[in-house]
Amino acid sequence: MEVPVTTSNDDRTADRPISLTAPSGIDRAAHHRLDEAWLASAWSHPTTRVFVVSGGQVLIDENSDGVTELVMTPSFEAPLTEEHRYFLGTDEEGVSYFALQKDALPGRMDQSARAAGLREAGLLLSARDAGLMVHAVALENWQRLHRFCSRCGERTVIAAAGHIRRCPACGAEHYPRTDPAVIMLVTDEEDRALLGRQVHWPEGRFSTLAGFVEPGEAIEASVRREVFEEAGVTVGPVEYVASQPWPFPASLMLGFMAHATSPEITVDGEEIEEARWFSREDLRAAIESGEVLPPFGVSIAARLVELWYGKPLPKPLKQG
Ligand SMILES: [Zn+2]
Repeated sequence: MEVPVTTSNDDRTADRPISLTAPSGIDRAAHHRLDEAWLASAWSHPTTRVFVVSGGQVLIDENSDGVTELVMTPSFEAPLTEEHRYFLGTDEEGVSYFALQKDALPGRMDQSARAAGLREAGLLLSARDAGLMVHAVALENWQRLHRFCSRCGERTVIAAAGHIRRCPACGAEHYPRTDPAVIMLVTDEEDRALLGRQVHWPEGRFSTLAGFVEPGEAIEASVRREVFEEAGVTVGPVEYVASQPWPFPASLMLGFMAHATSPEITVDGEEIEEARWFSREDLRAAIESGEVLPPFGVSIAARLVELWYGKPLPKPLKQG
């Protein structure tokens, strides 16, 4: 029988929230998306803030306090392009936020602003700005890949301030898609962690196992299937930790701690080239010697490994 997934009331990531996961303080205010009069009024309001998203990138800049921020302008400074305007929500002060999807990021008079994708900006921006950015990037990716009706093949048009695509031929409404994926730090009886190397990763890179949830599959079953397929290890209890939007192009990473019931490793050789059990001491030594490059940066994988490790990982000798 399947053992159900358990959740803990303690937020294990509270001391340092996972990037792109922390509450942004933005109310998405979905009820306004179909209200064209409200949207027009919000757009023209002097406090409204707008940023451009293009190819998964935005402009970021440091303010006078050295804090990295999204470069946002009032709407009257932004080119009005109704077709590609995404309404992202409002904050506590009633400020409305929009993203404009453009073919290119605008040129800037101030040369300090620079283009950045989520992997970089997700680590630098405040929870509010990172939340706005990940929403905009996810919409942009979905819009880009869903220009035609999956029911009849006609070209679809944007609606609901970026959150629907409508088919003028058959009337179908298409909604933004999110693909659930599981990512798990598996431990054994000795509290060692199972880390694997994907075939196409740079030499030495090891990380948690991960994979997509399949149609008709419960997430706990998905965790067990992926670990067994990739590493031949059977898993018993599964504990949910946190999730992370990962719009590359449309994933939602569901992070777990999982406990192995058999430690023998047999890698599939297709997706995973090598998998190893690491004690904390093994991992520290392997990172410090440069033999292993651990996951780092914005990904939830880095935080799952760190939660098991009990403190920030040692600095790798080289960054891959
Ligand atoms: Zn259609």
